[in-house]
Amino acid sequence: MRFLATITGAALALTLSLSAAQAACSSGVSRTISVGGASTVSSTSGQFRPGRALRENEVVLTFDDGPMPGPTTRILRVLDEHCVQATFFVVGAMARANPHIVRQMAARGHTVGTHSQSHANLADASHEDAIREIKRGYASVSAALGSQQPAPFFRFPYLASTSSLLSYLSDNNSVVFDGPLIDSADWRGGSSASIRQRILSQLETRGRGVILLHDIKSGTANLLPDLLDDLEENGYKIVHLVPAGRLSDTLVASGGGDTNSSVAALEAGSDRSSSRTRNSLSPDNVR
Ligand SMILES: [Zn+2]
Repeated sequence: MRFLATITGAALALTLSLSAAQAACSSGVSRTISVGGASTVSSTSGQFRPGRALRENEVVLTFDDGPMPGPTTRILRVLDEHCVQATFFVVGAMARANPHIVRQMAARGHTVGTHSQSHANLADASHEDAIREIKRGYASVSAALGSQQPAPFFRFPYLASTSSLLSYLSDNNSVVFDGPLIDSADWRGGSSASIRQRILSQLETRGRGVILLHDIKSGTANLLPDLLDDLEENGYKIVHLVPAGRLSDTLVASGGGDTNSSVAALEAGSDRSSSRTRNSLSPDNVR
C-alpha cells in the first residue's frame, strides 16, 4: 500500500507540475501563422510581409547567426520558461559545429530557418557563389537536424540581397525575412535598457513587426527575460511563424540531397567556393 501511495503521490506531483507548466504557458504564443500564401508573402519578391501577415500588436521573435553554446542555450531556456516559440536563422558553419543545439531548437518547437553557410555578404559574391552559399547553408542545417528539413525561411547575411537571388529563392519556395524589420541592433552592444528601448520605440511607430536579434550575443541572452516582460507589459503578443510548404526538391536535391557527404566534403577541405564569398563570423561582425 505504501508503494502504491508513493506511486499515486508521484503521479499527482507530476500532474500538478504539468498543470503549473500549462498555466504558465497560457501567456505564451498567442497564435501560429502559416507562412507561404499571398497574405503572408510578396508574390513579386518572395519576402515575408509583416504589414499584412501580422495584426496590430503582434510581434515575431527572430534570432540570427547561431547556434553558439552559452548564449543560444540560455536563450532557448528563457523561451521555454515563457512558453514562446521563435524563428532561428542558423548559419550552416555554426550548425555543423553545434548540431545538438540545432536539434534542441527543433525539439522545443522553434522554427529553424537558414542564414547561408558562412555568413558571407552574398550581394558581393557572384550569383553562382551566392547560390552555393545558400545551398550549403541548407545542407548543413539539414544534416544537423537529421530526419527533419529546415524551414524554407531565409535571411540574407547583413540583409544584403539582390533581385536575382530573391527571384532564385522565390522560385525555390523559400521565403525571405529581410524587411521591414524591428532592428534591435544588438550586435553593436550597448546596455540592455537601450537595446530594449530601441525595439519598443520602433514597435510604437509600426505597431507590429519581426524583431531581429542575435543568439550569439551574451548581452541578448541577458536582456531577453526583460524584453519579454516589456513586450507583455506594453500589450504586444508573440506569434509563431511556421512554413506552409517545403523547399523545392531542386534546391534540396542539389544543395543538400546528399547532405552527409556534402558536409563531409566541406569538412575535408574540398570547399572550392571563391574567397570572395568567405567571410569571418565573429560576434563583432554580424548582422
Ligand atoms: Zn547575420
